[in-house]
Amino acid sequence: MTQRTPKEPLGVPPEIQTRLEQAGLRRTLATRAVLGLFLARPLGGLTHAQALAALTARGLDINRVTLYRLLDRLAGCGVLLRQADESRNWRFTLAVATPAGHDEAAVPRFECDACHRQFPLTDASEPTRAVTHGLFAALARLGHHGERVDVSIHGTCAGCVEPSA
Ligand SMILES: [Zn+2]
Repeated sequence: MTQRTPKEPLGVPPEIQTRLEQAGLRRTLATRAVLGLFLARPLGGLTHAQALAALTARGLDINRVTLYRLLDRLAGCGVLLRQADESRNWRFTLAVATPAGHDEAAVPRFECDACHRQFPLTDASEPTRAVTHGLFAALARLGHHGERVDVSIHGTCAGCVEPSA
């Protein structure tokens, strides 16, 4: 019998928990270790190789193919975000980073029309929240009740922009 402590060292946010369950991902030791890695550094991205090195350093015996699949599945169910960096390596970041909780829609998204990758603009969540607030106030003056706002910006990402003088 394994005795489970109610709280994990780095509590998995309920939103991530929900997504894992919906995707039918079992919370194996490897899954928890990988999540722990990303939860510990929510702002930094990790490449597959960096994640592998970090997990190995923590004493987790995981092979690279298993880790690849796991990262892909976590990206597939929206827990991790996958984007290519300047050197065209896939870099994974935690997709669910909403300490405020109730207004995740306030994080605007940028979508590249060339490669269709999406980038959450977490840095812009404050100004977006202010704009959202203004929009809801305007709606309220008309008697409407706004529930949520989706902000998505379309354009060309840094990786797709033609270098020009
Ligand atoms: Zn692009």
